Amino acid sequence: MKSFRKELWFNAPTRRAFINITHQVEECLRDSGIKEGFVLVNAMHITASVFINDNESGLHHDFDVWLERLAPHEPVSQYHHNNGEDNADAHLKRQVMGREVVVAVTNGRLDFGPWEQIFYGEFDGRRKKRVLVKIIGE
Ligand code: ZN
Repeated sequence: MKSFRKELWFNAPTRRAFINITHQVEECLRDSGIKEGFVLVNAMHITASVFINDNESGLHHDFDVWLERLAPHEPVSQYHHNNGEDNADAHLKRQVMGREVVVAVTNGRLDFGPWEQIFYGEFDGRRKKRVLVKIIGE
């Protein structure tokens, strides 16, 4: 069995952002030489997510509005976690949007359903953060 590991780095200029990382994951898959197996992609931080959905800006806006309604950033004093921090909402948003995705690899390609793309969800940006890509197979 072959295995491949790479860390992708991000530094979103805003507190919250959705970044399409599909091409970077496809590049990892090409570099791995793996044709049949699985790719795991996970955020390495507890205030960021990796998820799969549609690459559609209206939907990303809807996600942002919905998450902000579920866990508003302000007022920061409403959260017990914000005891010297201001990112409790980011932990909650990450929990809703998920930590990782697993995608099947078939014939050397990501075996997606219709319109599926991989996104990095940032909820406490303006600093360097990482995503892990791990690929196993033959
Ligand atoms: Zn925190």
